[in-house]
Amino acid sequence: MAKTRGSGIAVVFRGIASLAKGLAITFSYIFRRPITVQYPEERVVLPVRSRGRLVLPLDPEKGTDRCTACMRCVQICPNHSIDVEKAVDAEGKPRPRAATYRYNLASCMFCNLCVEACPFFALVMSDEYELATTDRSSLVRDLVAERYELGGEKGDWWRRKFRAPAADEAERK
Ligand code: SF4
Ligand code: SF4
Repeated sequence: MAKTRGSGIAVVFRGIASLAKGLAITFSYIFRRPITVQYPEERVVLPVRSRGRLVLPLDPEKGTDRCTACMRCVQICPNHSIDVEKAVDAEGKPRPRAATYRYNLASCMFCNLCVEACPFFALVMSDEYELATTDRSSLVRDLVAERYELGGEKGDWWRRKFRAPAADEAERK
């Protein structure tokens, strides 16, 4: 009987200690600045590696995108979300660029495999994440026709990749 009363008191003290610990954590937050962001009025600055929808940005030095229609991204995409059509010249000979680059946002799972596989740094997952729509047809986009201009910190990060590939390789390690 005495043993039961002793263990009951120990349980009460453990409960009080646990409550005090929880309250200490709560009080420690009273004097910190709030981290809540009042979305959509306020937005956080996303890290450069954040994954929004896929884009084929314009290379400012070439004035076009960097795609050579090598099909690596098409082959690696697990969801068959990409369909590239190679450009041809007046004689019908294939040219190393894409005439159309159809990207199906509805089936893309933002895995980044296509970006990793591209040997020409042609693809980037943009900062665009507000992608809900009631128009299904708008989910399939031609990324060549879009002529996307990638600015800001993400644009600088992407351009460094092909202007200084050694620095990009070091950054990955
Ligand atoms: S991010 Fe993944 S699922 Fe989306 S297009 Fe690229 S490889 Fe396909
Ligand atoms: S985006 Fe890159 S991997 Fe895909 S077809 Fe163009 S050059 Fe090849």
